[in-house]
Amino acid sequence: MIVDPDCIFCKIVAGTLPAFKLHEDEHTLAFMDINPISPGHCLIIPKTHFANVFDGTDAPLAAVMATTRRVAVAVRDALQPDGMNLFQANGPAAGQTVYHFHMHILPRTAGDGLLRGGHGMQAGDKAVIAGHADRIKARL
Ligand code: 5GP
Ligand code: ZN
Repeated sequence: MIVDPDCIFCKIVAGTLPAFKLHEDEHTLAFMDINPISPGHCLIIPKTHFANVFDGTDAPLAAVMATTRRVAVAVRDALQPDGMNLFQANGPAAGQTVYHFHMHILPRTAGDGLLRGGHGMQAGDKAVIAGHADRIKARL
């Protein structure tokens, strides 16, 4: 397991920084976000340190997704939000502030206005979208 001694999430894994932990297993940890954007906002991390989706390998990323689903179901059942976003940031331009990979679970209330920026609100140019799709598929 890779540990970065300067990383706050590695410190939470090690237990040297407190957190409201939700779930822990061999590969992942889930805990409440300390600055919640909405009630129930929580985070799921791999125990091993890597900064982002590009640096991660399949096994810890898959483990994070499995835990994310498990926690998402629990958040849904416990808090019964109107909806829920799962999201994850890579790099400062994407809003990443902690450089240890993490998934956000963000419970939503209808009309709460969070995550403004209009995801999926404006139809794109289909030719441009298709071009992007082709370029991405060529990398897969
Ligand atoms: P990012 O901006 O990198 O996608 O998300 C980092 C998240 O970590 C933010 O939502 C922030 O509130 C949360 N966070 C930052 N420091 C701490 C901390 O010490 N403990 C916990 N539980 N969450 C933190
Ligand atoms: Zn870390």
